[in-house]
Amino acid sequence: YLQYFDTRCARSKALIDEAKKVIPGGVQHNLAFNYPFPIAIERADEAHLWDVDGNRYIDFLQAGGPTILGSNYLPVREKVIEMLQSCGPVTGLFHEYELKLAQLIQKFMPSIEMFRMLGSGTEGVMAAIRAARAFTGRRKVIKVGGAYHGWSDSMVYGLHIPGTGRLEAKGIPAGASANTQEFFPNALGALRRRLFLNQLTGGTAAVIVEPLGPESGTRPVPFDFNQKVRELCDEFGALLIFDEVVTGFRVGLGGAQGYFGVKPDLTVFGKCLTGGYPMAGGVGGRAEVIQRFAAGIGGTGERAYIGGTLSANPISCVAGYHALLEMERTNAAVIAGRAGDRLTKGLQAIIDKYNLPFVVFNQGSIVHLETSGVMLLDLRNPVRLARELKTRKHMMEEMGAAYMANGLITLAGSRMYTSMADTDEVIDDALARFEQVLSS
Ligand code: PMP
Repeated sequence: YLQYFDTRCARSKALIDEAKKVIPGGVQHNLAFNYPFPIAIERADEAHLWDVDGNRYIDFLQAGGPTILGSNYLPVREKVIEMLQSCGPVTGLFHEYELKLAQLIQKFMPSIEMFRMLGSGTEGVMAAIRAARAFTGRRKVIKVGGAYHGWSDSMVYGLHIPGTGRLEAKGIPAGASANTQEFFPNALGALRRRLFLNQLTGGTAAVIVEPLGPESGTRPVPFDFNQKVRELCDEFGALLIFDEVVTGFRVGLGGAQGYFGVKPDLTVFGKCLTGGYPMAGGVGGRAEVIQRFAAGIGGTGERAYIGGTLSANPISCVAGYHALLEMERTNAAVIAGRAGDRLTKGLQAIIDKYNLPFVVFNQGSIVHLETSGVMLLDLRNPVRLARELKTRKHMMEEMGAAYMANGLITLAGSRMYTSMADTDEVIDDALARFEQVLSS
């Protein structure tokens, strides 16, 4: 496959060589993979992408999840263009679409009594934690080891792999994550112990989870996991934060909370909120908690300050409103989920046919293809952990590049997001390409 990059991707290569002079590493998106070098994309249309050399790809990155309707979906694009013509990208003042979007989110997720729009999932998480601390008067926040909640100082703790604490926290003073704790995925006994011990030293402000499991379902949860966490939070007076950056609207319009039937105190939104349009994120939930952001203006008590010049701009809000309406009208999450099922079934058949030591499973439109056992292992042994991590990274890079050379873009060679645009023909075309790679 290296030959493909040498012969078919000359313009991408030239651009990235230039980019390396002004952009660290040459890339600013690390979702797909950058091996042997990143591909420059020129055009996106629902299920497909084209690079600057004219090569076409089936797009299973889908921008990292948000484009449930498919990339560059026309009905939303038209509304965005209308808004650009009437209002431009930002005025810094209130716009009716802020209200319309908040009301629509509330309709789909009744736990969202109030909503505050922000610029990204990372910001949403920061705001949720701040609100939880302001409301409870407590400091400690517990997350699941290996979970990804963006890259804010306090959340780059226990990142990617459980039990690794501050391994990836270079540049962050220890104090910034001093009040972050992690527990092993699905280890409810360990969570209870943490909550109990924290009780003796000021209590726990919040427990934050990705409701499908860390790294959005790569390590799946038992069905009753979220309910059990809810009960533990209630017992110890901690707020429950659902990070629905990936799951919100992709698992269904009611999000993972609708799917599991569990009501969090706070919900974090991200990229899915606007169907992929920029400045997408926010936090919503119990009015008395979210109200803390406004306390200095119209509310009561002390204010928890958050900002964001471009947050809730007319483009993000109109895109979000119409993307969600379109998802409702078209039943996009269900259609994308069926495509995910078809892809998973087909990949399982390929794995069986060639007797490959790979694991494939999906939660609707989120498909996980693990080519190394690392995510499924208990990794408390640091020597084994380091070895497995190196092997996994290498394999993912190789697999991702091989898929790409066969016209498939994946998330780091190990995850595929399907969209409403993935017809049976698209999935079957993809499976033939996967088979080409996996059989060689
Ligand atoms: N939480 C989860 C579960 C995510 O997957 C991500 C991003 N992939 C984030 C938070 C951070 O969102 P953003 O990249 O918009 O800051």
